[in-house]
Amino acid sequence: MNEQIVPVSGNQKIAFQCQRCGACCRHVENKVMLEPYDVYLLALHFQSEGQAVRPEDICAQYAHSMPLEPYFPIFLLNTAGEDQHCIFLNGNHCSVYAHRPRTCRLYPFTVDAGRRGKDFEYFLCTDYPDHFGKGRVRVSDWFYENFSKDARRFVKADYAAIRQYGKLLRQMTPAQIDHLLFQFLFYRYWNYDLSKLFQEQFEHNQRQLLAFLQEQLAQNGGSI
Ligand code: SF4
Ligand code: SF4
Repeated sequence: MNEQIVPVSGNQKIAFQCQRCGACCRHVENKVMLEPYDVYLLALHFQSEGQAVRPEDICAQYAHSMPLEPYFPIFLLNTAGEDQHCIFLNGNHCSVYAHRPRTCRLYPFTVDAGRRGKDFEYFLCTDYPDHFGKGRVRVSDWFYENFSKDARRFVKADYAAIRQYGKLLRQMTPAQIDHLLFQFLFYRYWNYDLSKLFQEQFEHNQRQLLAFLQEQLAQNGGSI
Protein backbone atom coordinates (compact mmCIF):
# COMPACT_ATOMS: atom_id res chain seq x y z
CA MET A 1 0.00 0.00 0.00
CA ASN A 2 3.02 2.30 0.16
CA GLU A 3 6.62 2.68 -0.81
CA GLN A 4 8.22 3.55 2.52
CA ILE A 5 9.68 0.30 3.76
CA VAL A 6 12.57 -0.73 6.00
CA PRO A 7 14.02 -4.24 6.40
CA VAL A 8 13.18 -6.14 9.60
CA SER A 9 14.34 -9.45 11.05
CA GLY A 10 12.17 -12.24 12.46
CA ASN A 11 13.07 -11.73 16.10
CA GLN A 12 12.55 -7.96 16.03
CA LYS A 13 9.64 -6.57 18.07
CA ILE A 14 7.63 -3.68 16.66
CA ALA A 15 5.37 -1.38 18.71
CA PHE A 16 2.35 -1.69 16.43
CA GLN A 17 -1.35 -1.94 17.15
CA CYS A 18 -4.10 -1.58 14.58
CA GLN A 19 -6.62 1.10 15.60
CA ARG A 20 -9.05 0.00 12.86
CA CYS A 21 -9.10 3.49 11.41
CA GLY A 22 -9.24 2.27 7.78
CA ALA A 23 -6.60 4.81 6.70
CA CYS A 24 -4.48 2.19 4.93
CA CYS A 25 -7.52 1.31 2.77
CA ARG A 26 -7.88 4.90 1.54
CA HIS A 27 -5.83 6.68 -1.13
CA VAL A 28 -5.00 3.29 -2.60
CA GLU A 29 -5.69 3.92 -6.27
CA ASN A 30 -3.42 1.60 -8.30
CA LYS A 31 -1.76 0.39 -5.10
CA VAL A 32 -3.34 -2.90 -3.97
CA MET A 33 -2.27 -5.72 -6.23
CA LEU A 34 -4.34 -8.86 -6.67
CA GLU A 35 -2.21 -11.93 -7.14
CA PRO A 36 -3.66 -15.14 -8.63
CA TYR A 37 -4.12 -16.62 -5.13
CA ASP A 38 -5.92 -13.44 -4.01
CA VAL A 39 -8.31 -13.66 -6.96
CA TYR A 40 -9.02 -17.33 -6.16
CA LEU A 41 -9.67 -16.57 -2.47
CA LEU A 42 -11.94 -13.61 -3.26
CA ALA A 43 -13.96 -15.80 -5.63
CA LEU A 44 -14.27 -18.34 -2.80
CA HIS A 45 -15.37 -15.52 -0.49
CA PHE A 46 -18.27 -14.52 -2.72
CA GLN A 47 -19.12 -18.14 -3.40
CA SER A 48 -19.37 -18.73 0.36
CA GLU A 49 -21.96 -15.90 0.39
CA GLY A 50 -24.02 -17.79 -2.18
CA GLN A 51 -22.90 -15.87 -5.27
CA ALA A 52 -21.85 -17.80 -8.37
CA VAL A 53 -18.66 -15.82 -8.88
CA ARG A 54 -15.72 -17.02 -10.97
CA PRO A 55 -12.14 -15.70 -10.77
CA GLU A 56 -12.66 -13.74 -14.01
CA ASP A 57 -15.69 -12.01 -12.44
CA ILE A 58 -13.50 -10.80 -9.56
CA CYS A 59 -11.05 -9.25 -12.01
CA ALA A 60 -13.84 -7.70 -14.11
CA GLN A 61 -15.95 -6.31 -11.26
CA TYR A 62 -13.43 -5.30 -8.62
CA ALA A 63 -10.12 -4.75 -10.36
CA HIS A 64 -8.39 -3.33 -13.41
CA SER A 65 -5.27 -4.48 -15.20
CA MET A 66 -2.09 -2.53 -15.67
CA PRO A 67 1.20 -3.46 -17.34
CA LEU A 68 4.39 -3.68 -15.27
CA GLU A 69 7.77 -3.74 -16.99
CA PRO A 70 8.49 -5.66 -19.19
CA TYR A 71 4.83 -5.45 -20.24
CA PHE A 72 3.83 -7.82 -17.45
CA PRO A 73 0.07 -7.47 -16.82
CA ILE A 74 -1.11 -7.32 -13.21
CA PHE A 75 -4.47 -6.62 -11.53
CA LEU A 76 -5.04 -3.82 -9.03
CA LEU A 77 -8.09 -3.37 -6.83
CA ASN A 78 -10.53 -0.67 -7.90
CA THR A 79 -11.19 2.34 -5.71
CA ALA A 80 -14.14 4.68 -5.28
CA GLY A 81 -14.82 8.20 -4.05
CA GLU A 82 -12.67 11.28 -3.67
CA ASP A 83 -10.60 9.57 -0.99
CA GLN A 84 -9.86 6.72 -3.43
CA HIS A 85 -10.94 4.10 -0.91
CA CYS A 86 -10.70 0.43 -1.75
CA ILE A 87 -13.84 -0.94 -3.36
CA PHE A 88 -14.14 -3.40 -0.46
CA LEU A 89 -13.97 -0.79 2.30
CA ASN A 90 -17.26 -0.44 4.15
CA GLY A 91 -17.05 2.37 6.71
CA ASN A 92 -13.71 1.60 8.30
CA HIS A 93 -14.08 -2.14 7.81
CA CYS A 94 -12.92 -4.53 5.14
CA SER A 95 -15.95 -6.34 3.72
CA VAL A 96 -13.80 -9.27 2.53
CA TYR A 97 -11.62 -9.40 5.64
CA ALA A 98 -11.33 -13.20 5.91
CA HIS A 99 -10.23 -13.39 2.27
CA ARG A 100 -8.42 -10.06 1.88
CA PRO A 101 -5.39 -9.94 -0.45
CA ARG A 102 -1.92 -10.85 0.77
CA THR A 103 -0.78 -7.23 0.66
CA CYS A 104 -3.51 -6.29 3.14
CA ARG A 105 -3.05 -9.39 5.28
CA LEU A 106 0.64 -8.71 5.83
CA TYR A 107 0.32 -4.95 6.34
CA PRO A 108 2.12 -3.10 7.96
CA PHE A 109 4.71 -5.67 6.93
CA THR A 110 5.55 -6.97 3.50
CA VAL A 111 7.89 -9.51 1.92
CA ASP A 112 10.19 -9.75 -1.04
CA ALA A 113 12.14 -12.64 -2.56
CA GLY A 114 14.94 -13.74 -0.24
CA ARG A 115 18.62 -13.77 -1.04
CA ARG A 116 21.49 -16.05 0.03
CA GLY A 117 19.29 -19.16 0.32
CA LYS A 118 16.40 -17.51 2.19
CA ASP A 119 12.88 -17.83 0.79
CA PHE A 120 11.84 -14.29 1.80
CA GLU A 121 13.04 -11.00 3.18
CA TYR A 122 10.78 -9.09 5.53
CA PHE A 123 10.03 -5.39 5.61
CA LEU A 124 8.04 -2.90 7.68
CA CYS A 125 5.95 -0.20 5.96
CA THR A 126 6.41 3.10 7.76
CA ASP A 127 3.95 5.32 5.89
CA TYR A 128 1.34 5.63 8.69
CA PRO A 129 3.15 6.66 11.89
CA ASP A 130 -0.08 6.80 13.97
CA HIS A 131 -0.36 3.06 14.52
CA PHE A 132 3.15 2.76 15.94
CA GLY A 133 3.97 3.32 19.61
CA LYS A 134 1.41 1.00 21.21
CA GLY A 135 1.35 -2.80 21.22
CA ARG A 136 4.21 -5.21 20.69
CA VAL A 137 4.44 -7.46 17.67
CA ARG A 138 7.23 -9.96 17.08
CA VAL A 139 7.90 -10.02 13.35
CA SER A 140 8.14 -13.83 13.13
CA ASP A 141 4.80 -14.21 14.99
CA TRP A 142 3.12 -11.77 12.62
CA PHE A 143 4.24 -13.70 9.58
CA TYR A 144 3.38 -17.02 11.20
CA GLU A 145 -0.19 -15.79 11.76
CA ASN A 146 -0.70 -13.84 8.54
CA PHE A 147 1.43 -15.55 5.92
CA SER A 148 0.02 -19.06 5.68
CA LYS A 149 1.92 -22.09 4.47
CA ASP A 150 -0.24 -22.09 1.33
CA ALA A 151 0.41 -18.40 0.68
CA ARG A 152 4.18 -18.91 1.13
CA ARG A 153 4.14 -21.83 -1.25
CA PHE A 154 2.27 -19.80 -3.84
CA VAL A 155 4.46 -16.68 -3.51
CA LYS A 156 7.67 -18.69 -3.77
CA ALA A 157 6.41 -20.53 -6.88
CA ASP A 158 5.15 -17.26 -8.33
CA TYR A 159 8.51 -15.50 -7.91
CA ALA A 160 10.10 -18.36 -9.86
CA ALA A 161 7.39 -18.30 -12.55
CA ILE A 162 7.64 -14.49 -12.93
CA ARG A 163 11.40 -14.75 -13.53
CA GLN A 164 10.70 -17.27 -16.31
CA TYR A 165 7.97 -15.14 -17.90
CA GLY A 166 10.28 -12.12 -17.71
CA LYS A 167 12.93 -13.91 -19.80
CA LEU A 168 10.35 -14.73 -22.47
CA LEU A 169 8.44 -11.44 -22.43
CA ARG A 170 11.63 -9.41 -22.79
CA GLN A 171 12.11 -11.06 -26.19
CA MET A 172 8.68 -9.91 -27.41
CA THR A 173 7.41 -6.57 -28.55
CA PRO A 174 4.52 -4.83 -26.73
CA ALA A 175 2.32 -5.63 -29.75
CA GLN A 176 3.15 -9.36 -29.51
CA ILE A 177 2.40 -9.35 -25.78
CA ASP A 178 -0.88 -7.53 -26.36
CA HIS A 179 -1.82 -10.31 -28.75
CA LEU A 180 -1.17 -12.92 -26.03
CA LEU A 181 -2.86 -11.00 -23.25
CA PHE A 182 -5.98 -13.15 -23.00
CA GLN A 183 -4.01 -16.39 -22.64
CA PHE A 184 -1.71 -14.73 -20.13
CA LEU A 185 -4.61 -13.62 -17.93
CA PHE A 186 -6.50 -16.87 -18.44
CA TYR A 187 -3.70 -19.12 -17.24
CA ARG A 188 -2.49 -16.83 -14.50
CA TYR A 189 -5.73 -15.66 -12.94
CA TRP A 190 -8.83 -17.34 -14.28
CA ASN A 191 -8.35 -21.02 -15.04
CA TYR A 192 -9.32 -22.33 -11.60
CA ASP A 193 -11.94 -24.75 -10.37
CA LEU A 194 -12.96 -23.36 -6.98
CA SER A 195 -13.91 -26.83 -5.73
CA LYS A 196 -10.24 -27.87 -6.03
CA LEU A 197 -7.17 -26.72 -4.11
CA PHE A 198 -5.33 -23.75 -5.55
CA GLN A 199 -1.66 -24.67 -5.68
CA GLU A 200 -1.74 -27.69 -7.96
CA GLN A 201 -3.94 -25.79 -10.39
CA PHE A 202 -1.59 -22.79 -10.22
CA GLU A 203 1.46 -24.91 -10.98
CA HIS A 204 -0.33 -26.68 -13.84
CA ASN A 205 -1.44 -23.31 -15.27
CA GLN A 206 2.07 -21.90 -15.07
CA ARG A 207 3.47 -24.87 -16.97
CA GLN A 208 0.79 -24.41 -19.62
CA LEU A 209 1.48 -20.68 -19.87
CA LEU A 210 5.24 -21.10 -20.13
CA ALA A 211 4.81 -23.73 -22.85
CA PHE A 212 2.41 -21.42 -24.70
CA LEU A 213 4.79 -18.43 -24.49
CA GLN A 214 7.72 -20.55 -25.67
CA GLU A 215 5.68 -21.85 -28.59
CA GLN A 216 4.62 -18.33 -29.59
CA LEU A 217 8.18 -17.09 -29.39
CA ALA A 218 9.45 -19.98 -31.51
CA GLN A 219 6.76 -19.30 -34.12
CA ASN A 220 7.82 -15.67 -34.22
CA GLY A 221 11.45 -16.56 -34.78
CA GLY A 222 12.72 -15.64 -31.31
CA SER A 223 15.18 -17.59 -29.23
CA ILE A 224 14.67 -18.69 -25.64
S1 SF4 B 1 -3.19 -0.85 9.98
FE1 SF4 B 1 -2.93 1.27 10.67
S2 SF4 B 1 -3.76 2.54 9.03
FE2 SF4 B 1 -4.54 0.44 8.75
S3 SF4 B 1 -6.53 0.36 9.82
FE3 SF4 B 1 -4.95 -0.33 11.28
S4 SF4 B 1 -4.34 1.54 12.36
FE4 SF4 B 1 -5.44 2.21 10.52
S1 SF4 C 1 -9.20 -5.48 0.53
FE1 SF4 C 1 -9.87 -4.89 2.58
S2 SF4 C 1 -7.97 -4.60 3.75
FE2 SF4 C 1 -7.44 -4.56 1.58
S3 SF4 C 1 -7.44 -2.40 0.98
FE3 SF4 C 1 -9.47 -3.26 0.54
S4 SF4 C 1 -10.72 -2.83 2.33
FE4 SF4 C 1 -8.57 -2.59 2.92
